[in-house]
Amino acid sequence: MINRHLFIFLILVLVSCKTKKETEQKPIEFTIGVVADCQYCYCEPSTVRFYKKSSNRLQHAVNILNNNKLDYSIHLGDFIDKNFESFDTVAPIWNSLKSDKYHVLGNHDFSVIDSLKPLIFKKMNLDNRYYSIVKNNWRFIILDGNDLSKHGALSETKKQQTDSLFKHLSKKNRPNLKDWNGGLSNDQLAWVENELELAKKNNEQVGFYCHFPAIAEEPTHNLLNYEQLLSIIDKYDGVKFYFNGHYHNGGYVKRNGVHYLNFKGMVDTENSTSFATVRFIKDSILVKGFGREPSRNLKIK
Ligand SMILES: [Zn+2]
Repeated sequence: MINRHLFIFLILVLVSCKTKKETEQKPIEFTIGVVADCQYCYCEPSTVRFYKKSSNRLQHAVNILNNNKLDYSIHLGDFIDKNFESFDTVAPIWNSLKSDKYHVLGNHDFSVIDSLKPLIFKKMNLDNRYYSIVKNNWRFIILDGNDLSKHGALSETKKQQTDSLFKHLSKKNRPNLKDWNGGLSNDQLAWVENELELAKKNNEQVGFYCHFPAIAEEPTHNLLNYEQLLSIIDKYDGVKFYFNGHYHNGGYVKRNGVHYLNFKGMVDTENSTSFATVRFIKDSILVKGFGREPSRNLKIK
């Protein structure tokens, strides 16, 4: 009997060793879909934005994304431009994605009449305006850059905080002090810090998604209080990337080893699209661009 127990014990040890070795050898690899600034509305085009074309462009992107095995897909904000009804054209297309799907709030998502603003979150399947996704040893932090903004501050408290932020920044004469930009409340910044502490404790790598850039060569589109966010990010070695939209020409900045990548806007140009798949492997983030979006190989620090 003792021999039999010893035999079973040895088998279990061998099996657990093998499983451990296999997980060590195989890093978790996965791919996501990324779309920025679909910005659909049934409106006449501006010089560069072809709003009506965005529904077909989104359908085309969804068709391609559905041919890939994706962990999830994310839209980086400005899903619509004007009019609440715009959601009814593009939401069903986005919702036909086979993968899990998430939205980031952009300034134009609030381009609806005030009384309908509280309803946009449900249209975008959002339980919270900012939130995190934890999977595959990563923590993905989704920011709401409209938290303190002229268009997106919905409560009296947030409106007052927005006024104070604008007043404070107007003394500094900043190029990004625009009504169509927005900032993060102290509540949200404290939440970000808490998320980063949790990631550190759990040994997770961290990526940010926000509509607005935190740093860019062209600074006019930056989050209003981007410096506050960067000073928090700087303290945590686990942060590897920050993806955003908003500035439709796109751009890329590397700061302290963190990749700050601005995806190009889908709505721009008469005849070309823009979106990407992003593959996460052990030491790199591989962006595969479609249309105007360039492909990139970003080494994880
Ligand atoms: Zn925007």
